Amino acid sequence: KAKSAGRNRVRFFNPQMQEEVTARANLEADMRRGLRERQFYVEFQPVVDASGNVTGAEVLVRWRHPKKGVISPADFIPVAEATGLILPLGRWILESACQQLVAWSRDPRLGRLKLAVNISASQFHHPEFVRDVIEVLADTGADPRLLELELTESQLVEDAEAMIVNMNRLRDQGVRFSLDDFGTGYSSLSYLKRLPLDHLKIDQSFVRDLLVDPNDAAIVRTVIALGRSLDLEVIAEGVENDAQWQSLQALGCDLYQGYLFSRPVAVEVLQQLCRQRGSD
Ligand code: C2E
Ligand code: MG
Ligand code: MG
Ligand code: MG
Repeated sequence: KAKSAGRNRVRFFNPQMQEEVTARANLEADMRRGLRERQFYVEFQPVVDASGNVTGAEVLVRWRHPKKGVISPADFIPVAEATGLILPLGRWILESACQQLVAWSRDPRLGRLKLAVNISASQFHHPEFVRDVIEVLADTGADPRLLELELTESQLVEDAEAMIVNMNRLRDQGVRFSLDDFGTGYSSLSYLKRLPLDHLKIDQSFVRDLLVDPNDAAIVRTVIALGRSLDLEVIAEGVENDAQWQSLQALGCDLYQGYLFSRPVAVEVLQQLCRQRGSD
């Protein structure tokens, strides 16, 4: 390693790099502490059907840092993945989701809501992941059919065979799956057919310019057609205005998520939304 660094070794003493390393180490230490001190919390972003009824929500984690304020998952999830902290954090998120499902289970309005939880590659590929999910379901008593795990296409590329085995083990318990950010990776269509999926989520980058960029419109149309032929429901992410929603409806999209309906919100706000918009 030292040899290959060769003449460029001086880069290691670059003060800016040193700063970055220190910042990352600090962030990791802060995260460990944040986990102990319950600085993480989850928000819920509703998923609606063609009539605007809430069918469920995506669980999105946030970090209320004591000094830096609320930090976005885009900034700390990569650090959690690199340090292994995604395992305790991910388990805590899963537990929170399952506890929420149980809290709703007796309510006629809320008891059928599904919760979708994002799962990182390093989390899913951990040898104990399947056992952990089954354990959390058993410990909380949540209905596995209301829990959906969101995986991304890039995870698929890593080790598709192992992934299929693990997905099937959870599927046997009733757990559902969706493929997140669809269209941004390199899914092999032959694998797609073999995965026990329920939903494809069209990435928000295609929805954003759906009305102005014919290429994005073509991708959206293709994903919806693909979903239909594989018997998967398609969820559009990042729906921000009525024109996008109408266009997606015309193309036959099944479910929708985005600021048009609601930003990610606290559980009380989600419950209120369900009472207003209905939940069937
Ligand atoms: P994602 O799973 O694709 O989640 C969707 C992201 O889009 C969320 O950002 C959400 O707030 C945002 N979003 C929703 N509707 C709209 C819209 O209409 N317009 C725009 N511009 N954005 C919208 P967020 O919460 O910042 O999360 C970012 C990413 O961080 C997520 O992307 C996911 O990859 C990751 N993430 C979030 N929570 C978790 C978690 O609990 N576990 C793991 N492993 N990753 C998570
Ligand atoms: Mg997601
Ligand atoms: Mg997504
Ligand atoms: Mg994303």
